[in-house]
Amino acid sequence: MLADAVVKTTCAYCGVGCGIAATVTDAAARVVDIKGDITHPANFGRLCSKGSSLGETVSLEGRQLVPEINGQPVAWATATTKIASEFKRIRDQHGPDAIAFYVSGQLLTEDYYVANKLMKGFIGSANIDTNSRLCMSSAVAGYKRAFGADSVPASYEDFAHAELMVLVGSNTAWCHPIIFQRIKAIKAEKPNLKVVVIDPRETATHEIADLHLPIKSGGDVLLFNALLAELAERGAVDTLFTAAHCTGLEAAVASAKADRGDRATLAARLGIPADRLHTFFDWFTATERTLTMYSMGVNQSSAGTDKANAIINCHLATGRIGKPGAAPFSLTGQPNAMGGREAGGLANMLAAHMDLENPAHRERVQRFWGAPSIPQQPGLKAVDLFDAVHEGKVKAVWIMATNPVVSLPNADRVRAALEKCELVIVSDCIADTDTMRLAHIKLPALGWGEKDGTVTNSERRISRQRGLLPPPGEARPDWWALAAVAKAMGYAEAFAYDHPAQIFREHAALSAFENNAESGIRDFNIGLLAQLDNREYNALKPVQWPVTPDAPLGTERLFTDNRFYTPDGKARLVPLAYRAPVNALSADYPLVLNTGRIRDQWHTMTRSGLTPRLLQHIGEPFAEMHPDEAKNRGLTEGGLVRLSSRWGKAVARVQFSTGQQPGHVFMPMHWTGVLSRSGRVGAVVNPAVDPVSGQPENKHTPVAAERY
Ligand code: SF4
Repeated sequence: MLADAVVKTTCAYCGVGCGIAATVTDAAARVVDIKGDITHPANFGRLCSKGSSLGETVSLEGRQLVPEINGQPVAWATATTKIASEFKRIRDQHGPDAIAFYVSGQLLTEDYYVANKLMKGFIGSANIDTNSRLCMSSAVAGYKRAFGADSVPASYEDFAHAELMVLVGSNTAWCHPIIFQRIKAIKAEKPNLKVVVIDPRETATHEIADLHLPIKSGGDVLLFNALLAELAERGAVDTLFTAAHCTGLEAAVASAKADRGDRATLAARLGIPADRLHTFFDWFTATERTLTMYSMGVNQSSAGTDKANAIINCHLATGRIGKPGAAPFSLTGQPNAMGGREAGGLANMLAAHMDLENPAHRERVQRFWGAPSIPQQPGLKAVDLFDAVHEGKVKAVWIMATNPVVSLPNADRVRAALEKCELVIVSDCIADTDTMRLAHIKLPALGWGEKDGTVTNSERRISRQRGLLPPPGEARPDWWALAAVAKAMGYAEAFAYDHPAQIFREHAALSAFENNAESGIRDFNIGLLAQLDNREYNALKPVQWPVTPDAPLGTERLFTDNRFYTPDGKARLVPLAYRAPVNALSADYPLVLNTGRIRDQWHTMTRSGLTPRLLQHIGEPFAEMHPDEAKNRGLTEGGLVRLSSRWGKAVARVQFSTGQQPGHVFMPMHWTGVLSRSGRVGAVVNPAVDPVSGQPENKHTPVAAERY
């Protein structure tokens, strides 16, 4: 790599997917200058605190630089041969489902593609799931139920067209900072734009809120059902659109009215002042150009899929989809949650948005891969997967680029599961994480600035992440390690990759393979990109899928023709009824624990924690409580509190905030057992999951709080 050459790449952190213009100013000392890429349509040169400090995270401090088996450095060939022989032994003795992969939205699409192909096509199990299960699987399930495919209808470009923005369960200011800045700038120029924030907490996002609905935890289905009932009663349903392009309207409205029940008590049931509730109904009814954006507060719930569909129902009923500034728009958490979805990195999906439960899709993918087998049933979703490890049903697990001993709910049980697992393989660029400590085989992965491939952001935009620095030590791409194991298992022909462009071309070709009217048109199609040669792949500019001969420059907005990906081409409204969170409050556990991100840290801090200036924002785990609630429990600001649930305990410093409702406590998700002996909140979080998506209920765990 030449010093002082500007390399255009993509941020490693959130799903906004900002473009970065990076310059290596001293390759030997690994000094990288970071600027926003003014040509990238996700951010037009802006970066938040995390993205702009990426240059401080590329040092070799704390890196895993060689493969290890049981603590001893080994050659790559020794490690991959050992993994291959153990996989074959376990598969022969216990069947393919005794092996599992747990991967990550931090992987590049090329890594995801190879992992999914190896597990589903060649090992023969669907037991590959991803930490994106914790992030957006409810949004995926909601889109699939409504549209027949995991199709994000909108673009960031729609912000400029919207006249009402509804932010649901999203602290956009901290979790998607550049989207927040973009909305704020539009709002400054467009005084008529109204922003509604729906969140039990008052967060930094309230800076742009014209209306805040402090909804009771878990009440979103009830709220959007009540909105649907209002829309029907006020004559705001677009009957021409719904008659021609939707099914299920009558049943959905009937359920919504039944669910809403007595209007006089609705505000109290939702915890929202009646005047604010009616203002929201008035604004939504009156505003064609409404964009409803939702994130973890919707998804991380035992009713997450229903919440997504309750929002989508209101958009379908009013025909607010496929038009500028009008859509239900899920904001993804991770840099490549979307790419994982495209490559089939979820236990219930195949590659290229095809379904494991569809026999024609299974046959097509198996034929395309030339694979010896394809699983007939979906695999285990994240929480169930680690339960199966605990129960001894899964004997070997390969974890890539994620730290489940910190981030999964009921995290002490996850740790116990890995402690007794026969074979734990962990690929990571960081040597010491809570999960790495339990690995029998450690594999040195590339970090940001070294990886080379593609990622997809929240608006379906595929961007290149480019290598700036040479791979350090023996670190290798994850796709390379997977292919090496596949070759050692005897699958050399199917995994003969030596460049990420080859993998990308295969992925793109599969997306277009028999993707036609005869076999049923699928949403994800980037077939045109299968023609890129290596040089063109290296030069690929950000582009939104689908990318087809009809749309060679990509597609800004979906459903402009009002055709959906269901067999009859119609969108489906889903009849819904409110369900309370699975684990109710009790005398022993009377508070709602809500977990989430803070502005300047990312996941389990293995990268963002390397940056001193990011640690200056908030330097230790905290528990945010309303002052009255804290004082009633004998807690003082700055003192320590122990939070306990039926599943585990954590200790944090008390912070007072009137933005918290009494009865609630918020704790950040980031601190690990390596960084803080007792601030690992995943140990406290309940393992309840959504029955459709399998996404855990991180936003609602009953806890007790006592002075520590
Ligand atoms: Fe990176 Fe997200 Fe910040 Fe953009 S908003 S710079 S993608 S962390």
